[in-house]
Amino acid sequence: MKEIILKTIDSSLYRNFISARQEKEMKSLATSLRGEKIYFINSTAFGGGVAELFYSLIPLIRSLGVDIHWYVIEGDNRFFAVTKKIHNLLQGGEGAITPEEIQYYLEVNKKNAEDFNFPVDLVVVHDPQPMPLPLFVSNKITDKPKLIWRCHIDTSRPNPQAKKLIQSFLPWYEKTIFSLDNFARGLGVRDKKIIIYPSIDPLSPKNKYLRAQVSRGIVRKFGVNLNHPFLLQVSRFDPWKDPIGVTDVYRSVKKKVPDVQLVLIGSMAMDDPEGWMFYERTLRHAGEDKEIFIFTNFDGVGSAEVNAFQRSATIILQKSIREGFGLTVSEALWKQKATIGGNVGGIRLQIENGKSGYLVNSNREATEKVEELLLDEVKRERFGEEGHRTVAKKFLTTRHVLDYLKLFKKLVN
Ligand code: UDP
Repeated sequence: MKEIILKTIDSSLYRNFISARQEKEMKSLATSLRGEKIYFINSTAFGGGVAELFYSLIPLIRSLGVDIHWYVIEGDNRFFAVTKKIHNLLQGGEGAITPEEIQYYLEVNKKNAEDFNFPVDLVVVHDPQPMPLPLFVSNKITDKPKLIWRCHIDTSRPNPQAKKLIQSFLPWYEKTIFSLDNFARGLGVRDKKIIIYPSIDPLSPKNKYLRAQVSRGIVRKFGVNLNHPFLLQVSRFDPWKDPIGVTDVYRSVKKKVPDVQLVLIGSMAMDDPEGWMFYERTLRHAGEDKEIFIFTNFDGVGSAEVNAFQRSATIILQKSIREGFGLTVSEALWKQKATIGGNVGGIRLQIENGKSGYLVNSNREATEKVEELLLDEVKRERFGEEGHRTVAKKFLTTRHVLDYLKLFKKLVN
C-alpha cells in the first residue's frame, strides 16, 4: 500500500457553502474525533470518481483536525483486470470469475495487508478492489479497527456469482455505505447500510468559477469552433458510460443540425486496464469525422481543461447505462449546463427530468432531447439554474464531510 499525501486546504474557504449551524456542528464533531486515526483505502490515486472525491474530502477533514490518511493498494495489470471484471459483473455484466482469478484477487490483497501493521481506529474501504484486505490484517493487530465498506458502483442488478463473492466479505464490516437504497438491496444488505450521496468540490480546479472568456480561450486552443454548438461527455472510456451511443446520438442530431460538434473527454484510470481498449474502439467508431474531438489526460486535458470544456459546452451528456453516481452530472449542473443523462442509478438523484435536464432511456430519446435543447436557449438556461440549485443543496463536499464525521463519531464513541 502506498500513502497519498495531499496539499492542505483552509476549511474556512468553504464558509459560503454551509450554514453557520452546520459549520459549528462540523467543528464540534471534528473535535470529538481528535485522537482517532482514520484510513481511507481505495485502488487508484488518479482517474475516476473515487480519487476525485478523495482530493477534496481528505484535506478538508484533515484541516478540521482529524487524523485521516489515504492509502492506495498496489497491484499489477492482472489484478486490475480481475477487479474490473468483478466491477462489471457487479453492475450486471455477463461472464464469470474463475477460481484462479479469485485466488489472485485475494493474494494481492494479502500482499498489500503486509504493510498494514500499525494501530488505526477506523478504516473505510472503497469499492471491491481492496475489500478482502481486512481478512488479512485483523489477525495481525490486536486492537481491531472498525471497518466500513463504501460501495460506489451500481449494484442494483448484480451477477449472482459476483454478489456471492462480495457477500462473503460483508461480515467483516460493521457498516456499509451506498449512494442508493436499491444498490444495497441488490447485494442483500439490509441492517448495516447507510446512504450517503457523493459530492463535488466547488473550489477545486475542476469546479471553481472561470470567466467565460478564460474557459472559451482554453477550449478554442483545442480546435473546437465556438461559433458552433458542441455536445460534451466527460467519462472514462468504459462501455457503461456509452461513448459509442453518444457518438451515434451526435450523428443523428447532425442530420438536422449540421454544424453541431462532439467532444468526448476521458482520462485513463490506473485501475482500469479496459480503458485503452475501449478508447481505441471509440476512436474507430468516430472515424474520420473532424467535428468529433476525443481527448484524454495525455492530450493535456486535466481538471482545469475539463472545467473549461464543461463551462463552454452547449449541452452536456452523461448517457450511462449503469451509474453509481456520476460526479460528472453534478459538475455539469453546478456549471449551470442543461444536462441529459441516462435514466439509471445515481444520475436519477441529480437530474430532475424536465426540470433541471432530461433522463433518457435510448439513443432515440437522447437525440430528440438534444435537438429540442439546441433550439431552445431559454430552456437550457432554466435547466442550468435549477440544476445549480440542486447541487448547492445536496451535492457539495461540505455536506459530504458532515455526513462522514457524523458516522465516524457514531462508530468510535
Ligand atoms: N474525469 C476527468 N477527466 C476525464 C474524465 C473524467 O477529470 O478525462 C473526472 C470527472 O470530471 C469526474 C470523475 O473523473 O470528476 C469521474 O467520476 P464519475 O463519478 O462521473 O465516474 P466514475 O469514473 O467514477 O465511474
